[in-house]
Amino acid sequence: MRIVRITVDRCELPLDPPFVASWDPVPRTVAPATVVRVETDDGAIGVGGGDTLHGVESYLPLLIGADPRRIEAQVRVLETIDLLAGRPWPLEVALWDLMGQVYGQPVWHLFGGVSDRLAAYASLGARRDAEAMVETVCAVHDDGFAACKLRLDAHRLDNTIATAQAVRAAVGPGLALMVDLNQAWRMAGDTTSSIDVAVARRIADALAELDVTWLEEPLAAGDHTGLAALRAAGSVRIAGGELTRTFDELLDAVVTDRYDVHQPDVVLSGMWRGRTIAELALRRGRWYTPHTWTDGIGLLANLHVCAGVGGGPYLEYPYDPDGWTPNRRDFLLRAPVEVTDGLLVVGEQPGLGIAIDEDAVTRTRIERIVASGRGVERRS
Ligand SMILES: [Mg+2]
Repeated sequence: MRIVRITVDRCELPLDPPFVASWDPVPRTVAPATVVRVETDDGAIGVGGGDTLHGVESYLPLLIGADPRRIEAQVRVLETIDLLAGRPWPLEVALWDLMGQVYGQPVWHLFGGVSDRLAAYASLGARRDAEAMVETVCAVHDDGFAACKLRLDAHRLDNTIATAQAVRAAVGPGLALMVDLNQAWRMAGDTTSSIDVAVARRIADALAELDVTWLEEPLAAGDHTGLAALRAAGSVRIAGGELTRTFDELLDAVVTDRYDVHQPDVVLSGMWRGRTIAELALRRGRWYTPHTWTDGIGLLANLHVCAGVGGGPYLEYPYDPDGWTPNRRDFLLRAPVEVTDGLLVVGEQPGLGIAIDEDAVTRTRIERIVASGRGVERRS
């Protein structure tokens, strides 16, 4: 079995009204999404996505002629692309989707088959004042979610703590709450500094009083000693690692025991490597629950790996009723990935269960790239 063609469709959904994400320096007016299809000489097609594949185009011929079933060999090739280009991991998503079809198995079976479902946590994206946050979290609770993650402003200490207190007082003890401060990385153009350890500790202690399940990215990702100090204080679980890029960095976070909750996103750092990190973290009694805030394909890829390896206890379901709806998030899928009774269920379809809405691809496509034995063609 050989790979004969790779097709990349880059699409953009206009967002009107825009979505105001807490981590974006300006409101988001388009949602980008990419579909990559890997085709073999016997006509099988694997589908992937979850990141843009920018910069990866000229390296696509490295996979032409390769046997997709030899996954470790292909992952090693993808790691070499990652050195100088954008993140290549949506290609690995397509390879696993393909293998699931070749072997007639859902991918979560191939990743261990530990569980076929995970409790979803509603991952809000916008910051709000206390009153609006209470209203939104109560609505999410009424929708059947067992857990919800809030975005709070690390630089407004009193407001952050007061908002978390108001939410806990309103929802009671029955809803698990997480808090993301988004201090580990910055979007392009945002040069704001992270808060320091002293402020992070005050927030952590206040959140512990509210029985918050984890505090995510309270400090810059590179502040290893600060994260260690915060963890040593031990008041609340520390989560992080979502945008970590390489296997070595992910491994370092496990070896140095930097987080209670490891969150590497499989479409940003790999599925097969992500499984290894998950296994190591779980073996040490830490949590593995990947970031999924990309699109529906990225959500499905992370769901299959997390369910297969037995991660959890919750998985991120990007959902904000004020701007990041399932229809926007999953605009390239025939139907959005749904939560039923608070659960994400993986299902038994071979592969990743990705059903692409071809009309949506055609309608929103801004570029198509095709790699084959004849080279790489770009079509706008
Ligand atoms: Mg996060």
